[in-house]
Amino acid sequence: MIFRPGTAVWVEHAALTWAEAEVVSSPASPSSKSSVTVVLSTGVKAVVDGRKVLPRDTEADLGGVDDMTKLVYLHEPGVLCNLARGYTLNEIYTYTGHILIAVNPFAKLSHMYNMHMMEQYRGVQFSELSPHVFAIADASYKAMVSENRSQSILVSGESGAGKTETTKLIMRYLTFVGGRATGDIRSVEQQVLESNLLLEAFGNARTVRNDNSSRFGKFVEIQFDKSGRLSGAAVRTYLLERSRVVQISESERNYHCFYQLCASEQDADKYKLAHPRNFNYLNQSHMYELEGEAIFRTLAAILHLGNIEFSPGKEFDSSVIKDEKCKFHLQMAADLLMVDASLLLSTLCYRTIKTPEGNIVKAVDSSAAVIGRDTLAKTVYARLFDWLVDNINKSIGQDMESRSQIGVLDIYGFECFKYNSFEQLCINFANEKLQQHFNKHVFKMEEDYKTEEINWSYIEFVDNQDILDLIEKKPIGIVSLLDEACLFASNQDDPSKSSYKFSSVASRFKKFENGSVLQQLRSGGVLEAIRISLAGYPTRRTYSEFINRFGLLVPEHMDERFDERSLTQRILKQLNLENFQLGRTKVFLRAGQIAVLDSRRGEI
Ligand code: ATP
Ligand code: MG
Repeated sequence: MIFRPGTAVWVEHAALTWAEAEVVSSPASPSSKSSVTVVLSTGVKAVVDGRKVLPRDTEADLGGVDDMTKLVYLHEPGVLCNLARGYTLNEIYTYTGHILIAVNPFAKLSHMYNMHMMEQYRGVQFSELSPHVFAIADASYKAMVSENRSQSILVSGESGAGKTETTKLIMRYLTFVGGRATGDIRSVEQQVLESNLLLEAFGNARTVRNDNSSRFGKFVEIQFDKSGRLSGAAVRTYLLERSRVVQISESERNYHCFYQLCASEQDADKYKLAHPRNFNYLNQSHMYELEGEAIFRTLAAILHLGNIEFSPGKEFDSSVIKDEKCKFHLQMAADLLMVDASLLLSTLCYRTIKTPEGNIVKAVDSSAAVIGRDTLAKTVYARLFDWLVDNINKSIGQDMESRSQIGVLDIYGFECFKYNSFEQLCINFANEKLQQHFNKHVFKMEEDYKTEEINWSYIEFVDNQDILDLIEKKPIGIVSLLDEACLFASNQDDPSKSSYKFSSVASRFKKFENGSVLQQLRSGGVLEAIRISLAGYPTRRTYSEFINRFGLLVPEHMDERFDERSLTQRILKQLNLENFQLGRTKVFLRAGQIAVLDSRRGEI
């Protein structure tokens, strides 16, 4: 590319990722190795590789675009700059065709989410108002009602990006549009929203990335009746991080509920709890501060369990309870769990091995007893969590008759710590699977063009199938190999010391950091998605679907002599729509065209 002197450009920059600059001079005939002299906005002159210089839209300084597909120059710095500009103005949402990008504002923007805003977005055409999470929720609600088909909304991003907050906003909007307005304070909508508080108390914790990090995956199904009224809900949860119950690193915390219980005067007293510093499961980090009966007993039992320590016993490879203090905690844990204390102790200090000749009881050393104790605590906590989720579902009530629902998926975001454990592998694997799903819908679906014989140039994207194969492919994927290794270890006769560890790097992602944002844009395939939205035809309908929906716009053309394909063509021509393509069985429309058609339909 030839850059005239004075041309506004972006140049790659080590600290800023991309920096604004102006061309001073560039060779008249560029070769692949040509360099360009530029002056940065700081006044510093630099000679840069011509391949790392991109044109800059100076008009963009006057105002950003609400949809990335409207950018004059579609490249990384253009996308980044548009997001950063919005962020400084607290305009945190931008569209990319049908996708909404949200930048975490890390500030309370109450005016953005109040009742008035929800009313504004109700039933409005997608592009009529500024980009907003309510517009996405409204679009899915409208699609569910008009097409009588279930919908789902996928919220993705790194840990701390704002997925859970976004999910709650979506749930709030959906309970608003589908609400019954009965004034009953225990209405389904209220219970759906309140369930978040409970789930977060038991499933969220402070990590180095996020004070309120979700340590489980969640799929909320909001169910509606035939007339689009809210009729029930169900919460499904996945893979709670169990290791956190017994092991946390500095700057992190255990699950919120433990601290909440210790801080509640009456209950803390009743269950012989004191300050979190007195419990091994909480005092591994020094982070204590942050803002039902059977449940409390179980939580207290877990804390007392964690304070049972062991010393080597007289016999080789055996263990005994350490001292009187530990005996008190053993008795407390046993009482709270309603089991016999000596039986609980022998369960921890001995193990039973099954043999063809019968069971053999064998003593275990003190480190194995600790592992047994921690496993018991983790399992009890995980079961408590599942029990809670079951009860939430029972209390909200599911609508078994409901045929349409909107599912909202909020899982723990992609994580990369200094030391990563098996749980990070699982979390990141889940994120890769979701990325694959996104790819399938946005990119791989483009294969539809081929079968439908549509004219179109294919857009390259990074397919993460190889990564998924590496992990899940049988029989040589990591998961299969781990299974095999575990099987081998258990045959050898499972207790190796667990090596769960988390990073203690206390840096929080609170500012608009070009590097971090760019990394997410790249790994999420956002740039490719914009290109596809621009070049592609994201809306596709079979001819009969199209005619059923829009035939009424041109009743004079609804002549049975024509086949469905010709009818569709006549409708589009009559409405002056251009740039559509007719496939073998479907019509393909550019982004935004369906909104035009829908608004024409609304006028009738
Ligand atoms: P994880 O994967 O760790 O669960 P997450 O993506 O779910 O992370 P959130 O817990 O939703 O992240 O967001 C982290 C914090 O960012 C919130 O506690 C809140 O302070 C802030 N935040 C996120 N979204 C918004 C928003 N729309 N408005 C105001 N603050 C927000
Ligand atoms: Mg979360």
